[in-house]
Amino acid sequence: MANGFFRPPYPENEAINDYAPGCPIREDILSTYEDMLKGHVDIPMFIGGKEVRTNELRDCRPPHDHKKLIGQYHWGTGQHASDAIDAALSAHKAWAAMPWTERAAIFLRAADMVSGPYRAKINAATMLAQSKTLFQAEIDAACEFADFLRFNVQYMTDIYEMQPDSSAGVWNRVEYRPLEGFVFALTPFNFTAIAGNLPAAPALMGNVVVWKPSDSQIYSAWVVMEIFRKAGMPAGVINLIYADGPEVGDVVFKHPDFAGLHFTGSTGVFKHLWKEIGQNIDRYKSYPRIVGETGGKDFIVAHHSADATELATALSRGAFEFQGQKCSAVSRAYIPESLWPEVKKQLLDNIQDFKMGSPGDPKNFMTAVIDERSFDKIAAFIDDSKQQDDADILTGGSYDKSKGYFIDPVVVHTSNPHFRTMCEEIFGPFLTIHTYPDADWTKTLALVDSTSQYALTGAVFSLDRYAINEALEALTFSAGNFYINDKPSGAVVGQQPFGGGRGSGTNDKAGSAQNLLRWVSPRTIKETLLPAKSYPYPYMD
Ligand code: NAD
Repeated sequence: MANGFFRPPYPENEAINDYAPGCPIREDILSTYEDMLKGHVDIPMFIGGKEVRTNELRDCRPPHDHKKLIGQYHWGTGQHASDAIDAALSAHKAWAAMPWTERAAIFLRAADMVSGPYRAKINAATMLAQSKTLFQAEIDAACEFADFLRFNVQYMTDIYEMQPDSSAGVWNRVEYRPLEGFVFALTPFNFTAIAGNLPAAPALMGNVVVWKPSDSQIYSAWVVMEIFRKAGMPAGVINLIYADGPEVGDVVFKHPDFAGLHFTGSTGVFKHLWKEIGQNIDRYKSYPRIVGETGGKDFIVAHHSADATELATALSRGAFEFQGQKCSAVSRAYIPESLWPEVKKQLLDNIQDFKMGSPGDPKNFMTAVIDERSFDKIAAFIDDSKQQDDADILTGGSYDKSKGYFIDPVVVHTSNPHFRTMCEEIFGPFLTIHTYPDADWTKTLALVDSTSQYALTGAVFSLDRYAINEALEALTFSAGNFYINDKPSGAVVGQQPFGGGRGSGTNDKAGSAQNLLRWVSPRTIKETLLPAKSYPYPYMD
């Protein structure tokens, strides 16, 4: 019975612990990390509420200590994708009919588990699986994830409240049905919060989901699934499988009940998936919703009025936190010649000061990159840059994968604004700087806008309001998240809805009502209170 207009608790952003010495839970997280590092977990898939194990086991190893085995997961096949779809479709009717209050309660409970009793475990899992420092794990796995879950409940009720007008004798209503079929959530390695949100957002709106995480994030995805299950998620609503992406895609995208893709990952993969969906369009019962947040080549453009220290700090944090593996990490910067000597000095001093190593040691600002493939790709960019005449490596250039996938932070200066590393996404600790004559501000803005296929995040640094306004205008379509005098990363749910345009995605803004609207198919209901009883209209008299 749902007799009442129920109001869920109003969401507030989860407070971030700074983990300074003396912070009461610092030791808790670090000891959980050590325990999990010493432990060995067995990670099944979850299909139809059951744990599914196979004969093929694959290893979970921390990227910063890849000789250490911390667990193994059960590797599936296309058949498991098919089983997951069947389980999801079996759960569809009951889940779609569940009152929204009951769905909301599950996710609100999950949020309180993330920020409370599971905080240490989900943070430690993220430190281990994705090599995030204590603080980077906290802002992702504990805070952003809890925020996604709580704010989405509020946005769901905001959507349900959007109702049409009625007129005399007529009552109009809009009912926000889930999609007819199942949603496929395909998630990236770099954020535990994003990985959890991509299946959770459609499920909250009454959809059933097949979730395939990145192979490099399975360890923390398993913790997310444990939270969902303990929060009361019914069997079959979210099904978690680990298998080869193209093999799963082949089953999912040919299925007549495929109703939506919720993707975050690289641009190339998203374009490939879109084409596959297009090729299969005649098989589907409905037009699938396609939501994808993808790559970036995020910029900082500085005006000569900018403060050199603020700029150098934003570059140091924005480019190198989490080893530059945030989709929003600054990876190209345009600095006026008059500011460059001071900015360069401070930036290189900061980098000199960075400590790199295990996330188990809180002194470290940086740790390892995610895996060997990524390490080799970044190393190839470094080697290539060393050989080019129009680029100088100002710092970095060394890398070592003997213990973990460690890459020294790289800063390249180039005289060529179209140098390869000014245009292509590298996804590592690699910043390219182009300096320009102060008088070329307007020309430089045009360059920023036209240099890459991406439009995810960007920032302007200036103390001159005319210059800031000019940048806002010139860069209208250059970024979906634009920052003034701040680094272009660190978006907060409920405050800076996140997503980009152009090659960076469909810009459906994760953690917002816009995103949730993609997971419903409204049904308009008109009820006439006293229907007509004869057919002729008055004009016929
Ligand atoms: P990725 O594209 O390599 O993988 C994403 C997911 O797709 C993984 O689960 C992977 O297994 C799967 N996949 C890959 N190829 C597939 C195929 N052919 N068929 C089916 N599935 C396939 O991305 P990643 O390396 O995990 O994450 C890094 C990328 O994600 C970067 O490009 C980054 O910019 C982007 N990203 C974007 C945002 C955003 O909000 N815009 C946020 C985080 C990450």
